Amino acid sequence: MSILEIEGLTFSYSKKEEPVLNDFSMSIEKGEVVGILGRSGSGKSTLLRLISGLEMPSKGTIKVAGTTVVSDRIYLHPENRGVGMVFQDYALFPHMTVKNNILFGLSRLPRNERNQRVGEMLELVKLESFENRYPHELSGGQQQRVALARALAPKPSILLMDEPFSNLDADLKESIREELGVILNKANMTCILVTHDRNDAEAICDRSLMLGLNIINE
Ligand code: ATP
Ligand code: MG
Repeated sequence: MSILEIEGLTFSYSKKEEPVLNDFSMSIEKGEVVGILGRSGSGKSTLLRLISGLEMPSKGTIKVAGTTVVSDRIYLHPENRGVGMVFQDYALFPHMTVKNNILFGLSRLPRNERNQRVGEMLELVKLESFENRYPHELSGGQQQRVALARALAPKPSILLMDEPFSNLDADLKESIREELGVILNKANMTCILVTHDRNDAEAICDRSLMLGLNIINE
């Protein structure tokens, strides 16, 4: 059974325009890390928003772990999909510390495991000494790393990442990318990574797909 099955997804932002996605299908196996490439405006962010439940398609079905989350009759609330997302225009909760931003999604975890999980995530994004800072005290790249930690912390069954490294310098990006690859592997987590950078895709993805052209590269 595929962990994610998308069939015949069609979506447009307005009736007057061509659909952004037209009869789009793909399926992903558990533990796969799949890259999504494609020119600006090709629908990469839109696809992630449809999977996570922030937009509703006009046609098509989406199944997560065998459960239909979207069809012509079903629309499962984003919170109940087991899908985590790092947005392209990620935003942190401004009145919460870094630590509390990451703790936010962990209410289902036993209390004694929460702090440990936050520690692991801070280590991943190299912000161990920043846990009590507020978002406005962080640089853009530091904020982006907190957003990544926050999405990964609950270990969602599918993690969707939209350009999660766009504000990081080359060295930091390379090391976070590498450690993220290890964490995803260890947790056998399924992940979709939207990126403009082929090197990102080559570094951590098992395969990549080009939106807009329907070319699949192994
Ligand atoms: P980028 O690489 O620049 O992030 P993308 O592949 O993520 O691009 P999308 O954001 O999915 O592209 O946008 C796909 C198309 O839908 C674009 O033509 C865009 O202008 C349009 N679009 C995106 N969001 C909206 C919206 N809220 N309302 C109307 N049109 C939108
Ligand atoms: Mg986008």
